[in-house]
Amino acid sequence: MATTNNQINPVFSKWKGAIYFTSGRAGMNPEYFVIHVMDGTLQGTDQWFNNAQSHASAHSGIGSNGEVHDYVHSTDSAWHAGASTNQGAKWKGFKFAPNGKLINPNLYTLGIEHEGRPNKEITEAAYLASAGKIKYWALRYNIPLTRDRFVAHSDIYPGHNCPNMAVNIDKLFKLVLTAAPIYPETK
Ligand SMILES: [Zn+2]
Repeated sequence: MATTNNQINPVFSKWKGAIYFTSGRAGMNPEYFVIHVMDGTLQGTDQWFNNAQSHASAHSGIGSNGEVHDYVHSTDSAWHAGASTNQGAKWKGFKFAPNGKLINPNLYTLGIEHEGRPNKEITEAAYLASAGKIKYWALRYNIPLTRDRFVAHSDIYPGHNCPNMAVNIDKLFKLVLTAAPIYPETK
């Protein structure tokens, strides 16, 4: 019998772009994956990140059908995490400058959005696609695949209840370990 191909992820992610991001990472490298829920649709997110009123972006978005859209290059800083240690955020990944000032987490994180609502878990197809996108980043930047590299947006920014119950991060983390990477489309 021929070898079975169990790869059901899309082979490539699609470039959609975004208006708002910071070029480069101020000399830092991506080290953590920040997990978000769109509180909306993939198509709506494509439009919002290309809307001048948004002042926000993420590196990628995952559709319920497993589609992967890219908005910001991983070499640039997406405007996804927000930064505040004065709202009670206890994330251990925060980095501080020698003067004690918080370094914007957008500079050393990758942000991934998931289609859907905070009160409903994402689809299996979305879990698999998200795992494939994250695996690509992990391989590209040599990010260790340990649970502490995966962080809920709300752990960095408690003002947003994101992704709430939409993404089971323990489950996503385990899927990344065995996932095949999803590469950006060639252009
Ligand atoms: Zn979020």
